[in-house]
Amino acid sequence: MRNVILFGAPGAGKGTQSAIIREKFDFAYISTGEILRAEIKKGSELGKQAEQIINRGELVSDEIIVGMIKSFISENNSKDLLLDGFPRTVKQAEALDEILKTLNRGEAKVVELEVNKDVLMQRLLKRAEIEGRKDDNETTIRERFNQYDAKTAAVADYYKKKNSYISIDGEHGTPEEISVKLIDILKKL
Ligand code: UDP
Ligand code: MG
Repeated sequence: MRNVILFGAPGAGKGTQSAIIREKFDFAYISTGEILRAEIKKGSELGKQAEQIINRGELVSDEIIVGMIKSFISENNSKDLLLDGFPRTVKQAEALDEILKTLNRGEAKVVELEVNKDVLMQRLLKRAEIEGRKDDNETTIRERFNQYDAKTAAVADYYKKKNSYISIDGEHGTPEEISVKLIDILKKL
């Protein structure tokens, strides 16, 4: 079973590309960010904890996120996996390795969507007007970039060392044009 991680900074297009991929392939899909937003909407205990962290642009603890991922993968063990927004720390990547190993799944493969920060900022500010996400304001976006540089960028190096990393240009071209490159890679994985 394939384990595909769609990787990239906030605004890189992970959600957009995931939607296109899911029309063409039968992946079990999980976006940890979407789950957290759903929990906030429900007003659950987790949602209440996560809301403040997300509005500050910080990361929800590895423990909580890994717990969510673990149950999702266990419940979908017969399917190919598409992970959006996870892992966000090296600790999470190590935990994922462990989960995949325990479930006898193969290694995870990472595809990064590469986009420059100034373009990311423009995209997120535009998305704010359309979707009204509370964490899509300039101050919070800056902190999300900081968190990405400090904690998440190292995840790419982690997979590069294992030769499980590919990156594509996520900046130039329409979402459809970018998806062609991505689908090409997925077919070969
Ligand atoms: N978040 C988190 N861990 C995750 C996913 C999301 O802490 O595994 C939080 C974090 O505060 C992040 C926010 O939720 O800034 C939004 O995440 P999402 O992946 O939806 O946004 P993106 O970074 O793709 O714009
Ligand atoms: Mg997203």
